[in-house]
Amino acid sequence: MLSDAQIPPDVSAGGAPDDQLGRPLRSLRVSVTDRCNLRCNYCMPQENYVWLPRKEILTFGEIAHLVEVFTTLGVENVRLTGGEPLVRRELATLVRMLAENPRIRDLALTTNGILFSEQAEELRDAGLHRVTLSLDTLRPERFLALTGRDMHAQVLAGIEAARRAGFQKLKIDTVVLRGTNDDELADLIEFGRRLGAEVRFIEYMDVGGATEWSHDQVFTRADMLDRLGKRYGTITPLEENSSAPAVRFTLPDGTVFGIIASTTTPFCRTCDRSRLTADGLWYLCLYAQSGIDFRQMLRAGASPEELAARIASAWRGRTDRGAELRASERHRGAFVGIEQLRQNPHLEMHTRGG
Ligand code: SAM
Ligand code: SF4
Ligand code: SF4
Repeated sequence: MLSDAQIPPDVSAGGAPDDQLGRPLRSLRVSVTDRCNLRCNYCMPQENYVWLPRKEILTFGEIAHLVEVFTTLGVENVRLTGGEPLVRRELATLVRMLAENPRIRDLALTTNGILFSEQAEELRDAGLHRVTLSLDTLRPERFLALTGRDMHAQVLAGIEAARRAGFQKLKIDTVVLRGTNDDELADLIEFGRRLGAEVRFIEYMDVGGATEWSHDQVFTRADMLDRLGKRYGTITPLEENSSAPAVRFTLPDGTVFGIIASTTTPFCRTCDRSRLTADGLWYLCLYAQSGIDFRQMLRAGASPEELAARIASAWRGRTDRGAELRASERHRGAFVGIEQLRQNPHLEMHTRGG
């Protein structure tokens, strides 16, 4: 734990300065691995990638130390992600280290659920607050077609384990692809309702491995509301003042669900999120082309004050609003092509964390 004496004066006075658009530094997504046990065709469709070299992957001690510095600057929400975070061995050890940091108010995990049933209780006992599970379909054969793996049953077991372990505010995230799973919105809402989980539908984004992305496959927020309105009747938006990406709605019976409309209705203006890759690069935006190398600084012996000063100055200069700029492009295809991805794995969604 950093003592107050180790925190630079401008920082201890009230955290990092807001960025150029007045956005505070509040949320950090920490990717613990670029590897994954699925091959979702909107994220990581190839079998093989240029993986990050093992010696460059941050140790748990390095991650906890960096996160600690971030929290002295105002970060209070930390989400572990990947790749698939549960393929990183002994993840509960990292969770335990982070849970000791009292500045973290929300310690969450995003997972595809495959390994969750084995680890749910250990992670809860280690101090994980919340979990979001990704589930795009309730149909095993569709799951196989979407992910390249016959593992639907393991995902459902993982979701059930999360419920049994007593995780509060359980969320299920579904990427909706036109012509692939847009006929399952209501089924997924019903599934979530039975489980006590809130379902959030995500518009298909043109990031990283989504090299086959095209506008026609985006099932938009308007499409979703139209489809669900026909099934359930009046859908009411919840009035909320939040920086969370999902806009939430209620069905006539009170069931709440969310829509993350990053593609058609970006929420960059309130974005307080940044991303740390498994090898210690810090990205100020999901669409940023380059990140700041904290692994090198850390391994060269940078002090907490130096790290904090670098973070604060980068955040102060931040102007990123990647999804907004993408939305304003007239002829939009995939953000990066496969050749560019092969040369720079840091452009992958599975490397920088979703
Ligand atoms: N492997 C974990 C999982 O799938 O939950 C965590 C990492 S994954 C990159 C995080 C989230 O990003 C998942 O919910 C996934 O569905 C979402 N995602 C990946 N590619 C996407 C895309 N092209 N458009 C929208 N969401 C995407
Ligand atoms: Fe699918 Fe998540 Fe793996 Fe990407 S990282 S392929 S979204 S399970
Ligand atoms: Fe934030 Fe960048 Fe996503 Fe916009 S595109 S919401 S600025 S991470």
